[in-house]
Amino acid sequence: MKGFMREFKEFIAQGNAMDMAIGVIIGGAFTAIVNALVGNIIQPLITLITGGAEGVSGLRIPVNAETAIDFGALISAIINFLIVAFIVFLMVKSLNKMMSLTKNGKEESSEEAAPVCPHCLEEIKAGATKCPHCGSAIQ
Ligand SMILES: [Zn+2]
Repeated sequence: MKGFMREFKEFIAQGNAMDMAIGVIIGGAFTAIVNALVGNIIQPLITLITGGAEGVSGLRIPVNAETAIDFGALISAIINFLIVAFIVFLMVKSLNKMMSLTKNGKEESSEEAAPVCPHCLEEIKAGATKCPHCGSAIQ
């Protein structure tokens, strides 16, 4: 779980183009779900913990009658971002896993291909210095 969280932090810090592009698409698609999740589940939970009447939206410091420093809106936006980033992270993680599996498969198959004698083109063992088929010395 520690490694998982570290990977998540690295993912947020990286921000490479492919991840960002996927993030924009997935983020757009998940906005409604995330808003519903934050508004209906997470904010009430925070209200429950803090005992506040309005949840994080109530965390505002009035400056004067019309203006207030609204921490609630900022915290809500940050929570939204973290959830979207986490969902995108999970999608990219599974995508990377799939890609690395394909890559590993290719590497293994190329490793499995036995070397060939340059003189008679018969397969020889890796590291062999003399071909068992034609007797030629191999570098
Ligand atoms: Zn040979």
